[in-house]
Parts: sequence; structure tokens; C-alpha cells
Amino acid sequence: MTTVTLQPGKERPVVQRHPWVFSGAIARIQGRQPERGAVVDVRSADGEWLARGCWSAGSQIRIRLFTWDPDEPIDDALIRRRIERAIDGRRRLGMLANEGACRLIYAESDGIPGLIVDYYAGFLVVQLLTQAMAQRSAAVTRILAETLAPRGIYERSDADVREKESLPPASGVLWGETPPARLRMRLPGDIWHVVDLGAGQKTGAYLDQAFNRLRVAAHCVNAETLDCFCYTGGFTIAAARAGARHVTAIDTSEAALSMLREGLTLNMIATPVETAPGDAFKLLRRYREEQRRFDVVILDPPKFATSQSQVERATRGYKDINMQAMHLLRPGGILATFSCSGLVSADLFQKVVFGAALDAHRDVQIIERLSQSPDHPVLLTFPEGEYLKGLICRVW
Ligand code: SAH
Repeated sequence: MTTVTLQPGKERPVVQRHPWVFSGAIARIQGRQPERGAVVDVRSADGEWLARGCWSAGSQIRIRLFTWDPDEPIDDALIRRRIERAIDGRRRLGMLANEGACRLIYAESDGIPGLIVDYYAGFLVVQLLTQAMAQRSAAVTRILAETLAPRGIYERSDADVREKESLPPASGVLWGETPPARLRMRLPGDIWHVVDLGAGQKTGAYLDQAFNRLRVAAHCVNAETLDCFCYTGGFTIAAARAGARHVTAIDTSEAALSMLREGLTLNMIATPVETAPGDAFKLLRRYREEQRRFDVVILDPPKFATSQSQVERATRGYKDINMQAMHLLRPGGILATFSCSGLVSADLFQKVVFGAALDAHRDVQIIERLSQSPDHPVLLTFPEGEYLKGLICRVW
């Protein structure tokens, strides 16, 4: 097996079980140049055995570590043990109901770097995001089929991160039935949604917000509510179910808005909901000119920063929409504001909202802090797994 020796002083994160080895930390390779996805041993500059992982040729994250036990091979049995443990964790959360949906395997956080598996009402959607996982696709599929006996397993490896691994996008049925274009699933709070696993965003839905929608909806009783970046209406439907007086739901995607309307029917919602196709940045300004006011504004934009160089621009974007949202709130209204950019820390995000409050000339109190759903756990040795942060604020 190939052995990779680290530069002097670069062993600390590895010893502390962080699962990434960057290309710059590598001093030399002994043995054959590793193939894409091959298993390699990692040693310190002093020659001490540290960990074992898989090679990603060309990627900045050159090795993803799977084990710190010299006697543990990286084989199908390891993948099976990790998959079983991840599933057990979700089962103990009570999130594995037949018609429900949850993230079953969350990559590094569940000890399987590069593998994401979401469960949707009997179907599994898989993302194989590294060279190592792409190569082990057949084994992963077989283990998932044996462990869970799903109706079908569908691949959605069309995320941008595949590019960094020099992998082409891949999607399609890996095993079993093709999921229907409209699959019904039940989310926390007994809320039903339709999801298109083949064409929806991410693996079909934003499962990370499932519980946050209920926390925000608690403030929507009798409220005129504005749901910006609504996608298929996760927050809209929760708010309507909780007794909102009226909801305006903005998204650029017409397909998402049409699924939102199907969701309203499915949940037998009588609350008036206005779907507004368009750019939230522009619509918020227009609403201000029209002097429209709301009791609750929800901001759940897409990831604005995918690399460190984009963070500054992202913070300007966050600040702008947060300020616009504050302008639209009646005194004492609620702003529920989120950022899913992992590169924007919770601390930085709070500073951005602070800047928005100063510019909007409003007093803003944080009344609740939110994070991703518990089926997206954060492994202590891998804090990067925490990416979603939210603030529920009262705006005076
Ligand atoms: N709140 C949703 C998830 C939002 S994901 C939920 O709970 O499920 C972000 C959404 O923002 C996507 O649906 C995307 O289509 C939309 N979007 C991206 N840029 C936008 C813009 N400038 N204006 C409005 N919507 C936008």
C-alpha cells in the first residue's frame, strides 16, 4: 500500500481525527503514485503511523481519512459498519418512518467522507462526491439495498463539488424502481410535501430546515407572512398550517412554486397564499416602494459563498436582503433569517445582521438561534459539518 508522509508539524489535525489532508501538508509519497480513490496510509514526518484514507487525485483535499486504527482496512465491511451506525442514529431519533424523509448518511460526520444518502418515503437518493466513493458506487448501492430494502436507489451526484474531484455529473437509477416525478413525503409537524427526486434541488428537498420551519411557524399565528427563497414552500406551508393570515412566497423557480401549490392542496390549506415568481432582491425593494408591511419575514437564501474568495461578496448579499426585510416589518415583527454558507460562521452572520439593523435604523433582538436538523449531525472532530445557522429576531 502507498504511504504518504506529512510535512513536519502537519500531523496535529490528523492526530486530532480531522478527516482531511490537504495537498500542501504532504511531503512525499512512498510506493506507487496512488490511483484515483486508492487507499493510502498516512505517517508523520517522524515516520509514525497516523491514519488511513482514500486518495483524491487533483483535489486540494488530497486524502479523506476513514480510520485511525492501523488494523482496520478500508473495505466493504467498514462501509457497512458505518452505514449501519448512521442508520441506527436516525432510527433512534425517530426519523425513519416509512412515509417520512431524513438525511441517513451525512458524509464525514458519519465517518464516510464523500457519501450523502437521503431517505424519502421509501426511496434513497445518493450523492457520491469523491473519487473514492464514485469508485465504490456498486458496493454502497448493494449495502444500502441489503440494509434498508428500499423501493429504489437513485443517484444525484450532480453537485458542483464533483468538479473539484474531476468527476463528471452523474444521475439516474442505481437500483430498484424509478422514483415517481411526484413523491409524497411527510415531514415533522405532519406536513406533507411533494418532491421530485430526479429534478429537484440538492437531493430533492431541504431536509436541514425541517424542524426550523416549525420554530418559525410558531410566530406566524394570524401573521401576514413573507417567505423569501421559498423553494417548494417548506416555511410557507408550515406557516399556513400554524394559522398565518396570509403568506407571500417568493422564488425565482417557477417549477418550485408550482410544487408549492401542490403542497397547499395536499395539506388542505385554506390560507390565502400568493406565489411571487422573481428575484427576492428586487421584489423586496418593490414591496418597500409599495409600502407593503409584514408581521413575519423569512429569508432562506441559497449558499452565497462556495469559496473563501466569495465570502465578502456573500456578506454584502446577506446584509442587503436582511436590511430590506427589516424595512418591511411592522414594529415588533419577526425576522427569521438563515445562512447555509459553511464559510460564513455563525459569528460573522450575526455581525452581518447587526450591520443590516444599523442601516435599517431598527432595534433588533435575537430571540432564538437555529441550526441544521439533528439528522445532519456535527462530528466534534469535523466542525465544518455545521453549515446552517439561523436567527429568529424581533424587529422594533
Ligand atoms: N426555504 C426553502 C429552501 C430555499 S433554497 C425550504 O425551506 O425548502 C433557496 C431557494 O432560493 C431556491 O429555491 C432557489 O430557486 C431560490 N433563489 C435563488 N436565488 C434567488 C433570488 N435571487 N430570488 C429568489 N429566489 C432565489
